[in-house]
Amino acid sequence: MNAVPKPRVIVIGSGLGGFLSAAKLVQSGYEVEVFERLPIIGGRFTNTKYRGFSLSTGALHMIPHGPAGPLAQMLKSLGVDVNIVRSDPMALIRLPAKKGDTDYTNGYKDILFRDFSKPLSATNKLKITVLTIVTKIFPPKKGSLEEWFTRYIKDEWLVKLADSFCGWSLSLKGADIYTKEAFMIFSNLYRYSGPGIPIGGCKAIIDALADIITLNGGIIHTGEDVSGILVKDGRAVGVTVNGSKYTCDIVISNIGHIETNRLCMNIKTSGEYLQYLEQLKKIKPSAGVKICLAADEPLIGHGGVLLTPYAKRINGINEVTNIDPNLAPPGKHLAVSHQCVQWNKLNELEHEIDLGLQDIEDIFAGKKYEILLIQSHSGEWPVNRSASGFDVNVKNATPVKNLFIVGDGAKGEGGIEVEGIALGVANTMKMIL
Ligand SMILES: Cc1cc2nc3c(=O)[nH]c(=O)nc-3n(C[C@H](O)[C@H](O)[C@H](O)COP(=O)(O)OP(=O)(O)OC[C@H]3O[C@@H](n4cnc5c(N)ncnc54)[C@H](O)[C@@H]3O)c2cc1C
Repeated sequence: MNAVPKPRVIVIGSGLGGFLSAAKLVQSGYEVEVFERLPIIGGRFTNTKYRGFSLSTGALHMIPHGPAGPLAQMLKSLGVDVNIVRSDPMALIRLPAKKGDTDYTNGYKDILFRDFSKPLSATNKLKITVLTIVTKIFPPKKGSLEEWFTRYIKDEWLVKLADSFCGWSLSLKGADIYTKEAFMIFSNLYRYSGPGIPIGGCKAIIDALADIITLNGGIIHTGEDVSGILVKDGRAVGVTVNGSKYTCDIVISNIGHIETNRLCMNIKTSGEYLQYLEQLKKIKPSAGVKICLAADEPLIGHGGVLLTPYAKRINGINEVTNIDPNLAPPGKHLAVSHQCVQWNKLNELEHEIDLGLQDIEDIFAGKKYEILLIQSHSGEWPVNRSASGFDVNVKNATPVKNLFIVGDGAKGEGGIEVEGIALGVANTMKMIL
């Protein structure tokens, strides 16, 4: 009797979404081949060594929902042996010290994230509590987070805090995230109890996934750019790489809807396809700047996030070496700041970076540190290919049969960053398997 051939899958891109999908499919008996255009694997989720520091190609080495969230659960189900250590505290918020405050430095004082309402007046505290309860029961269908609360509560603190939290976690302003998406994100934050750091950084996860793929017979090519997706009778049937054709039953693209659509050849422009193109016009990537700092002594002293709502540009800072000292050379610390770059400021990147550097000087006044590297993320190497909330209408399927999109260009609803990627991959696997 002839053996039934295994379905053949080609994955475009070796980012987290591509590798999670490839690992799941090889374990399910599919024949999988991954094509990555860069000489390294991992996309925006791996480490790059610089003077002994494990800097990252994108992510701040932070898993938003820590060891219990959707990504951690998916890794566990795949048998990935990576230790994700919970950040404790989840986050502190830095605000200007008031008259009478005792425990402050450089004019600022840090409070726990869960005490975020402390600076509000008694009336506004009550209003925000009532408003939160009502919104959980009747989530608004449209409007931004900032519009949602400023309609009832005019308070500069809430605007700044929303910008700082959304800037850090989504690279968006409070005025740019839909209230519905923001509420799903908040409830997941409390449901899974906050972030964590993988020991070994992002690379530990990517390398463990690469092992699963290759040990199960999958093939990973690096330095191989996919230049076209072959479509026949409305169905994806292969890809072209360096002039050669590779046929398959399923194509999974890790490069977002817009780039994937550009690669598709021979598409028939049906009504459904035109509708899809309209949806693509609404996708907006999010942009940001990261400043990596080295120090001999801890600069923030804990493994959570320091949110900085009163800084000019910087939304927050983490110091991963408080959890994994091996991410820096012995005796050194690695702190990384993140700032969202708004869409209308993309042409003023240098000025945005200068403002970020001024913030660093202010936040760490009197402390000794060195700036290791400044990274800006936009265009084809953004923070998210599709800003949170903008990818809800174009999910993981496409009008081309057997062509699926994974990664941060097609996140699951309410999923911050890599958690959204894991939710999107789970959704894709449901459609395929
Ligand atoms: C500054 C910054 C901070 C961040 N911080 C965090 C954080 O702390 N926590 C968190 O959860 N998330 C964070 N993120 C987001 C996170 O890094 C990304 O969401 C995630 O890494 C994206 O993974 P992906 O699956 O979309 O794949 P990508 O990383 O986009 O990988 C896609 C791969 O496809 C390859 N490729 C592209 N075109 C082709 C082609 N034609 N042929 C072959 N290969 C191709 C690319 O080279 C790339 O390697 C951050 C991002 C940035 C930039």
